[in-house]
Amino acid sequence: MKKVPTEILDCIKENQSFLILVHNKPDGDAIGSAIALGKGLKALGKNVDYYIETPLEDKLQFFSESRYFEDELQDEYDVVAFLDCSTMEYAFKPVPMVDARTTVVIDHHATNQGYGDINFLEITAATAELVFRILDALDVELDPEMVEAVFTGISTDTGSFQFSNVTADTHQILSRLYEKRDNFAVLSKRLHSEKNYAQMKLYGKAVDSLQLYEDNTLAWIFLSYADICKYGGPVQITDDVANIGMNIIGVQLSATVKEVECGIYRVSLRSKTPFKIDVSLIARKYGGGGHMRAAGFTFKGDLKALKKELIELIEYYRKHEEDI
Ligand code: 5GP
Ligand code: MN
Repeated sequence: MKKVPTEILDCIKENQSFLILVHNKPDGDAIGSAIALGKGLKALGKNVDYYIETPLEDKLQFFSESRYFEDELQDEYDVVAFLDCSTMEYAFKPVPMVDARTTVVIDHHATNQGYGDINFLEITAATAELVFRILDALDVELDPEMVEAVFTGISTDTGSFQFSNVTADTHQILSRLYEKRDNFAVLSKRLHSEKNYAQMKLYGKAVDSLQLYEDNTLAWIFLSYADICKYGGPVQITDDVANIGMNIIGVQLSATVKEVECGIYRVSLRSKTPFKIDVSLIARKYGGGGHMRAAGFTFKGDLKALKKELIELIEYYRKHEEDI
């Protein structure tokens, strides 16, 4: 197991009260990381609170620890830990913000500039990998729910171990999880295949909206506010909607535009080989962030201009394919 910075371990050992924060519209990695770390800290005798946006999407509503997500907060904590948040703006935070003696950032996004007093930043497949390593270094025994939490984080952020972010380290951690439990078949199905009725219909709307440009190398998917509302709101948009474009043969760049409020769009970008398009650079330009192959941002401007920009980008890659 790779090393964990001693600063992080000392910070945990030396402090007593912790508040755990994750990003807006928390995904499996955010929730899994928060629960594994939160329960791990509790096992070490620490006081832990969470401030996490609810309701969680259906598939993540099985952790009993999430009953603490809406508990009242203290005014002050020894440590406020930001998990899976590449920027502080992207975090879901209490208003007004609580006082923190120390802020800790634990994250796996390449775009993270390190906004904490202590930063544990490493480009791994999931933040849950970093949390697992912290708990391992502190000799915390994982209970069954923590095992599920770490699995949920890694499985979600790797698209069930299909994405290019999976490494030998990821599988080393997985093998440790399998030592604790026979299989993760039911959980995997829940995380990746099953949908409720509204989610399936919304997924269908997204497929239906698909447009392709530039000889089918750019995919553009749009979900209107009206459609999203019809099927229960943004919480019903499943992660795999952002991968619809990527699952089309030949597509190199995909934009999934979700009108989550009237005129406010959440954009998910994805890219795949052979073009080395770093979508996190586009996302950062618009105040978002993420990874080379998966990034996102909130957009309020002219969608036609955004589409044109992506078409020009893919045009450039097609022309320069040989030398990029
Ligand atoms: P998704 O498209 O699934 O929402 O996000 C893809 C990746 O980009 C995730 O790692 C996510 O954390 C990151 N990301 C998405 N939206 C934002 C954003 O608005 N700001 C930042 N900093 N990162 C984002
Ligand atoms: Mn993540």
